[in-house]
Amino acid sequence: MNLNELAIVQAAEGLQKKDFTSVELTSACLARIHERNKDINAFITVCDELAIEEAKKADMMIAKGEAKPLTGIPFAVKDAICTAGVRSTGAGKILDNYTPPYDATVIKKIRDQGGVLIGKNNCDAFGHGASNENSMYGPVKNPHDLSKVAGGSSGGSAAAVADNMCIYAIAEDTGGSIRQPASFCGVVGLRPSYGRNSRYGIMPMASSLDTVGPLTKTVEDMAIVMQEIAGRDPLDATTVAYDEPPHPALSRGARGQQPPLLAGEVGVRARVGVPKEYFEIEGIDPEVKEITIEKIKLLKDSGCEIIDVSLPHTKYAIAVYYIIVPCEDSSNMARLDGIRYGVRNTEGRTLYDMYARSRDLGFPEEVKRRILIGTYALSAGYYDAYYKKAQQVRTLIRKDFDDVFKQVDVLITPTSPFPAFGVGEKASDPLAMYLADVMLSPASVAGVPALSVPAGKTKAGLPVGIQIIGARMDEGLVMQVGHQLSF
Ligand code: GLN
Repeated sequence: MNLNELAIVQAAEGLQKKDFTSVELTSACLARIHERNKDINAFITVCDELAIEEAKKADMMIAKGEAKPLTGIPFAVKDAICTAGVRSTGAGKILDNYTPPYDATVIKKIRDQGGVLIGKNNCDAFGHGASNENSMYGPVKNPHDLSKVAGGSSGGSAAAVADNMCIYAIAEDTGGSIRQPASFCGVVGLRPSYGRNSRYGIMPMASSLDTVGPLTKTVEDMAIVMQEIAGRDPLDATTVAYDEPPHPALSRGARGQQPPLLAGEVGVRARVGVPKEYFEIEGIDPEVKEITIEKIKLLKDSGCEIIDVSLPHTKYAIAVYYIIVPCEDSSNMARLDGIRYGVRNTEGRTLYDMYARSRDLGFPEEVKRRILIGTYALSAGYYDAYYKKAQQVRTLIRKDFDDVFKQVDVLITPTSPFPAFGVGEKASDPLAMYLADVMLSPASVAGVPALSVPAGKTKAGLPVGIQIIGARMDEGLVMQVGHQLSF
């Protein structure tokens, strides 16, 4: 096995035992990037020299016995997350030359313990999309089939992990951007509870929905990264201090019933809800349905109780999401004006004209579409009809989840109604692209955690992901069930 193919657990063990150095591990990942990135386009920036420098420092920490769980492990970061001294474009030309002077809190936590930043991942510009075709740096191709999309918006991160260009990645999920590419590329992706991880230093898209989380090769790795990055941050007022750790091995488990999991093959005796609305969605691929049902049977055999449940407002989640997101987006995107960074068109005769022309150059169509929709929906006379109404329905969706989690511990659904689609297949149809989020937006709107784990492959060899949704702050149990499903 090549070093770049290792998961965090094995890589950390090898470093500890001095089987190899962080410089060797990092070089293996860099070599893979240089071999494959021209086809996959998962990276906008590769940190060749910096990564080796950081790896040397990590090797020194290890030699001195100062290693922490992520010391010396090469990781990649979505380009919509700020990294000190490393260009962070958000995949939009409006920030083409932006190099942040600071790290996002979650990145700082990793780099401070000697994590090796290997590069910045391509994504849909500022997180807008479900296929990675809205990047201004070209689409990301799916490593399992280069004619298919990697998913979005964190397609570069998922593809990089799936193709062993890094050991794990950190990305952002507003309405599915971690989970959907994870399912398309066959890796593990977690959208944590809103408030679990600090968003300080994440380029904001829709602030009431944005979350930051990892993409990993295994659920065990997911638990390790979450343990290191979660927690209250004075720089993000939405983070909460929560005494239940996100790590399953340390978690007391749901309602005290769960045995510790990482130690062995002991089953998780959770009550698993199967929400009927997710299986009745129009256009759901029969193979995806079949694979999901198979996995549910597996959970039953391992001691879980399977309960049919209903989340009656599910069908409104997409509509609610695509009102709230553009509204918050139009405000967040307003800070990008082409004056200090990125492309700038100076032909305008007035300052406003210059902003407008620069924004026209620096944003892709989808971002412009959302700015227009959001500005419209927030304007006098329309605010009550759209934004306020959407917030009211959002409360009903959240209540569906509150009610259902009185009956069950977790919910199981497919992550996406279909496997990865063809490059260009939905690119000219924004509505079809929005509908790809149908199974992802409910958990986002409700602020609850949701994990996508690989569940199998279609006959054509494309990965299918299964989604485990938990109650707020129940990441521990969600990961336990996900871990169980990985066998
Ligand atoms: N498909 C979603 C959207 O375009 C994903 C966004 C995200 O999670 N960043 O809004």
